[in-house]
Amino acid sequence: MPELPEVETVRRTLNELVIGKQIDHVSVHLNRIIIKPEEVGEFCIQLAGQTILSVERRGKFLRFLLDDYALVSHLRMEGRYGLYDSSDPLELHTHVVFHFTDGSELRYKDVRQFGTMHLFPKGRELEEQPLKKLGLEPLEEAFDLAAFRARIAHRSTKIKPLLLNQEYIVGIGNIYVDESLHLARIHPEREANSLTSKELAALHEAIVKTLSEAVAAGGSSIKSFVNGQGEIGMFQHQFKMYGRKGEACYSCGHPIEKSVVAGRGTHYCPQCQPLKPARGKKIKPI
Ligand SMILES: [Zn+2]
Repeated sequence: MPELPEVETVRRTLNELVIGKQIDHVSVHLNRIIIKPEEVGEFCIQLAGQTILSVERRGKFLRFLLDDYALVSHLRMEGRYGLYDSSDPLELHTHVVFHFTDGSELRYKDVRQFGTMHLFPKGRELEEQPLKKLGLEPLEEAFDLAAFRARIAHRSTKIKPLLLNQEYIVGIGNIYVDESLHLARIHPEREANSLTSKELAALHEAIVKTLSEAVAAGGSSIKSFVNGQGEIGMFQHQFKMYGRKGEACYSCGHPIEKSVVAGRGTHYCPQCQPLKPARGKKIKPI
């Protein structure tokens, strides 16, 4: 699933491709992608005549700001956007087509069909699901150490599932959690309230560094991620943990282990990231 860096890369690419384009009409070939409004016909009517003013991001969601509406789009597993000419043949799995007045088309393709689109009157999208309950944006200025500490430090939950929970911090998925925890030398099963001030500061710094570097590399191309122009991200070449089970840790040489934490495959180095007991409690090793 694309995480923050991949969605940010798609957002930047879309901003280069579709800003200022006016929608003539919309074709929907798979109704279930459209969650709101319930009537797909209504979705198409509302979008006709609208101009795309900007493409923003909230967590892992894209937010197309139009004259009167905001289109909230989640790519889920394999959703992709691409800009085409109207004469280009329609590729398989193309579910939604935004036909622009200049003859070009923004096409949404999704092999797995898990992606979603919600259309709101502009301004309402942040007050309703799916954006309503989203947590802090880790690459914004407001995400300072104090804000991070306030959200995380008093929780008794294990740190990995806490970081994956989009209601606390948005956009970090399985890959970037493992990379960040290793960089901060924190075991994924540590309870959040067992982290020292120093560890919290290291984790905060690691999250910002990992996500920033991934954005700078254009995201990571796992499975089929490509940006809106068919280009692949390069951050997968910088992974220190993800996909490296059994290989030597770059920091200490110990083989990287993989286990399941909170239902997710988790890479960690048992030497760099020891499982310290939290507040005197003995935690079962994973
Ligand atoms: Zn190590």
